[in-house]
Amino acid sequence: MYFGQCLCGQVSYRVKSEFVEIECCHCLTCRKAHSSAFAMGVTIDSADFELQTGQELLKEYESSTGKKRVFCGQCGSHLYAYRVAQPESVRLRPACLNIDMSSFKYSHIYTENCLRIHSE
Ligand SMILES: [Zn+2]
Ligand SMILES: [Zn+2]
Repeated sequence: MYFGQCLCGQVSYRVKSEFVEIECCHCLTCRKAHSSAFAMGVTIDSADFELQTGQELLKEYESSTGKKRVFCGQCGSHLYAYRVAQPESVRLRPACLNIDMSSFKYSHIYTENCLRIHSE
C-alpha cells in the first residue's frame, strides 16, 4: 500500500498494490507532459487505485487519441494516465507517491530517439 498526493496536497490517493520496477520514458510526449527529462510510470490495476480527496480538481488532457493524462487542476501535478479502451488499468505516475523511491528498480525506455512520440 502506498499513499500519494499532488504538489498542493488537495488530491490524495492510495495504491493498494506494490511494485518493484518503474519505467522511465524519455519520449517527447512524456517530456512535455511532465516538463522533465523523462517521466516515470508504472501500470497497475484500476481497482488498486483509490482516489481519496480532490476528485473535483482533477483535469484530463487527451495527449493522443484515447489516451488521457490526469493532473491536478490547481497545482499541475501529473498523477496518472489511462486509455479509454482499457479501463482495467491505470498508468500511475509514481513520482507523486509519498515514499522513498531509492529502492525501486528503474528501466529506461524511448531513450534511443528523444524526438520519438509514442502513446505511452
Ligand atoms: Zn494539486
Ligand atoms: Zn513516453
